[in-house]
Amino acid sequence: APRTPLADRSPAELASFVDEQRAAYAALTARGLSLDLTRGKPSPEQLDLAEALLHLPEGHLDRAGTDVRNYGGLQGLPELREMFADLLGVDPDQVVAGGNASLTMMHEVLVDHLLHGGLGSPRPWREEEKVTFICPVPGYDRHYTMLESYGIEMVTVPMREDGPDVEAVEALVKDDPSVKGMWIVPTYANPVGSVVTQEVAARLAAMPAAAPDFRLFWDNAYALHHLTEDEAKSADILSLASAAGNPHRPVVFASTSKITFAGAGVAFLAGSRETVQWYLSHLKFASIGPDKVNQLRHVQFFGSPDGVRQHMARHRAILAPKFAAVDAALTAELDGLGVAEWTRPRGGYFVSVDVPDGCASRVVQLAREAGIALTPAGASFPHGVDPRDRNIRLAPSFPSLAEVETAMAGVATCVALAAAEQLLADVG
Ligand code: PMP
Repeated sequence: APRTPLADRSPAELASFVDEQRAAYAALTARGLSLDLTRGKPSPEQLDLAEALLHLPEGHLDRAGTDVRNYGGLQGLPELREMFADLLGVDPDQVVAGGNASLTMMHEVLVDHLLHGGLGSPRPWREEEKVTFICPVPGYDRHYTMLESYGIEMVTVPMREDGPDVEAVEALVKDDPSVKGMWIVPTYANPVGSVVTQEVAARLAAMPAAAPDFRLFWDNAYALHHLTEDEAKSADILSLASAAGNPHRPVVFASTSKITFAGAGVAFLAGSRETVQWYLSHLKFASIGPDKVNQLRHVQFFGSPDGVRQHMARHRAILAPKFAAVDAALTAELDGLGVAEWTRPRGGYFVSVDVPDGCASRVVQLAREAGIALTPAGASFPHGVDPRDRNIRLAPSFPSLAEVETAMAGVATCVALAAAEQLLADVG
């Protein structure tokens, strides 16, 4: 029988539900669990998929006969740029293959704008009275902490199923020249799993901006990270922006962190040819060239863009059951109670759960006390503060499937208990 929503139950029914959940929670804590759903890390089994990289490269020459062991080649190995240009839908000369972290490239692009200004900047951003970034929420915590470390203001807009609330974005950039940038994870966004549609991307590319150097930090970290056969295609933001007369607006980032090794992959930057030259013109003072040995072994390991796609299918086979287990546990325990809504992402690394306002921190605390580590409530918001204290980010990739099942049954109990206790306190 379908469950009666908690909000429709009498105080006596609610009190008995709370008693049941307290008993379930006591049984949970008695198990002495030690489980971790905090960060979107690949599991050891996923890392094993790329184990062959440790025996590569064969030889040390690239296609052109360059010795990859030596200095040089600041823009990265041409054959690897070609491979990922194909996957990202851009031209190879619009791509830089760099080090192991796209986050570092985002940081470099930000700092170069602060210190030097970018294409079209009237002055370096550090000379502006105020610099503001638009942040779709919930979003990726490291985007916010990076801005925070430089005193950059953040204004939030809601993240929806088709991307950021584009009307709100248009209104913010139109008149305020302090709005210099915006974070956007266009495909399977962290943590809500949404995919920016072609239509939303076109509006972001074309909208009038008061700042002549307004930048879209297009962080396509999950471009290829499908969980179903319904594979999202990332909007081609560079072509859209170029067609709209704003060719330098987007800077695209991606990496193989969740394709090969999270700590030893290759990161990519893409943009207009001028953007690439601008980026390299500053990078050349910091580097004589990237780790081309790592880049060459990635070329040999994948063989072709299709090799990358086939590799991603092997990740999916490992990850999809874990995401199914999250959904199954939440459905089994919470369906119909009216106390939680959660995402069923088609890709990426996260599930986002909304609980009743004011309950998220309590759920995370209950889970912690039962030995289940969750990302702190509020982490997906600037300054770590969720104004409604209702959002919880779950990261099921790292634990084993059995651990995900156990942890999620526990999380569901914590949600039911926290929500019921809050409701009972409100009626009592
Ligand atoms: N962007 C997003 C949205 C992410 O979720 C992550 C990893 N959690 C990163 C960037 C980090 O990427 P990289 O490993 O290439 O620095």
